[in-house]
Amino acid sequence: MIQLYIPLNFLGVIYREIKQSLTDLEKMFSLMEREREIADAPEAPPLQLAADGSDASVRFENVTFSYDPAGSKAAAGIEARTILHHISFEIPAGKTVAVVGPSGSGKSTLARLLFRFYDVQQGRITIAGQDIRNVTQSSVRQAIGIVPQDTVLFNDTVEYNIAYGRPGASRGEVEAAAKAAHIHGFIAAAPKGYDTMVGERGLKLSGGEKQRVAIARTLLKNPPVMIFDEATSALDSANERAIQAELQGVSRNKTTLVIAHRLSTVVDAHEILVMDAGHIIERGNHAELLAANGRYASMWALQQSGE
Ligand code: ATP
Repeated sequence: MIQLYIPLNFLGVIYREIKQSLTDLEKMFSLMEREREIADAPEAPPLQLAADGSDASVRFENVTFSYDPAGSKAAAGIEARTILHHISFEIPAGKTVAVVGPSGSGKSTLARLLFRFYDVQQGRITIAGQDIRNVTQSSVRQAIGIVPQDTVLFNDTVEYNIAYGRPGASRGEVEAAAKAAHIHGFIAAAPKGYDTMVGERGLKLSGGEKQRVAIARTLLKNPPVMIFDEATSALDSANERAIQAELQGVSRNKTTLVIAHRLSTVVDAHEILVMDAGHIIERGNHAELLAANGRYASMWALQQSGE
């Protein structure tokens, strides 16, 4: 494993970058084991979920959070900035909640907290009624699939990169996932098909193709809870619509948190949270928010005119 050769002092850097970008979180499991900022409670049990995920509701209850509250900044006498203020919402099992708002408003922080990269300072986050601080991190992460903004792929075969969602998956299962993510045709046309190497000296994938690989991975993993961090980079609009349709397919009946950059993605969400500076300033479904004629409605009008 190439990871074993990465000098330890790089691990922290990589880990911080990964946490920052939500990129390829799952790839870094083994690295994360080595630099834990949060630890499992002694004898913490695994998260208990129904086999069909039908109880996998997610709740944020009065969550307040700042990065590094007692760390280097506090030591230097700098007050840590509160990034999230009293955030409460629920994603009922199988439903989708979308988060929108300006850059820096705290959207990705919600996702990082749900994946338990950090523990909250006030309030709690539960999955199926269980405080995620009281169960093992690995079981929480096992229950969550992430389609990040920008998927980093391994310098390995296409098959390996997809099967990473469920190590041990058969070629048939990998192909089925790739077909569902609409990337099979592209792979089949490559010189060695699923054995083609990806990466710098191998097959180069566009942003959309990488996202499809991430979707295929997540389909294989088949977790009850999903986080989508919608790409900010411009895909062409046909591609964008296709990927949106695929994401909707993957998240059907899954408890889903979507960090949305395009409002067209959120129209069907059970609830939309409009964030600003760490506060939820508006919430409701699309029709309710349009009727409220506030921030969301003006964001919507702006995007419609842009399109
Ligand atoms: P974007 O749409 O640009 O991704 P966002 O709404 O997802 O933005 P976050 O990434 O959640 O915003 O960041 C919220 C705030 O927290 C920002 O002001 C950011 O500077 C700050 N922040 C993010 N990560 C850290 C960190 N590791 N340490 C300290 N502050 C951080």
